[in-house]
Amino acid sequence: PSGSGVSAGIRVLALANQKGGVGKTTTAINLGTALAAIGERVLIIDLDPQGNASTGLGVDRKSRKISTYDVMVGSATLQDTLLETAVPGLAVAPSTLDLLGVELEIAASKDRVHRLGRAIDVLGRDIRPNGFTYVLIDCPPSLNLLTINALTASNAVLVPLQCEFFALEGLSQLLRTVEQVRVSLNPGLGIHGIVLTMFDPRNNLSNQVVADVREFMGAKVYDTIIPRNVRVSEAPSHGKPVLLYDLKCAGSQAYLKLASEIIQRERALRAA
Ligand code: ADP
Ligand code: MG
Repeated sequence: PSGSGVSAGIRVLALANQKGGVGKTTTAINLGTALAAIGERVLIIDLDPQGNASTGLGVDRKSRKISTYDVMVGSATLQDTLLETAVPGLAVAPSTLDLLGVELEIAASKDRVHRLGRAIDVLGRDIRPNGFTYVLIDCPPSLNLLTINALTASNAVLVPLQCEFFALEGLSQLLRTVEQVRVSLNPGLGIHGIVLTMFDPRNNLSNQVVADVREFMGAKVYDTIIPRNVRVSEAPSHGKPVLLYDLKCAGSQAYLKLASEIIQRERALRAA
């Protein structure tokens, strides 16, 4: 599609849910790591002003000289922002709190919803080869202009849903927004899948949420469920993906499984 950032050869997935604390950033970091571990070349674009994906990947604030803020205001390319991580094959475009001001700064410009998509297009055509096969965009907890940019730039949306009582609340609004972006800005956009996070098998409520979400969203829900696992929540304070922190733990194994499920869905899509 024209200028939508959906470059040939790069799959762009937005991790979106306007609720905070549902596992977007954790999934971006650890799915990105798992995809890189099985041979993909991955870029995580941190589009949340909080910068948790950057921090969780071990990028300290001082080294964020050029960030996604600069990309959004047009003063740098994505290639300029790239930092390699401790995971071979995984790079990050870090964010800073400057991103909080971006909405106002670009509000009056005509191309305000296409800024990120254009930047990904440019990255795909860069003469300095980067070989990216997957771009994961970690969205802020809001359906703001940053998230609209992410949806406009993506092939598909990956929605993390926390296994808690209000899991489905807000999902219809998110699906409506995705549909609006599809109709008006990015005809190729789809829902890649819904990943249930922080599942606790001893909790009846968790099991009920899984059943409800599967009934409501059917095959869109990935088979893989991410368990609540203390190793997953400890890893970011060490600046590491959980797969580097404790490869054997249930959280790491679940993210590896999710990565292979996603690759399988991609293969099925390509074969269709
Ligand atoms: P979001 O990006 O949607 O706001 P996060 O990924 O930051 O959500 O997750 C919110 C909190 O929950 C973080 O403290 C994170 O460490 C924790 N968390 C996420 N997934 C898990 C999990 N599977 N097990 C335990 N804690 C988790
Ligand atoms: Mg987050």
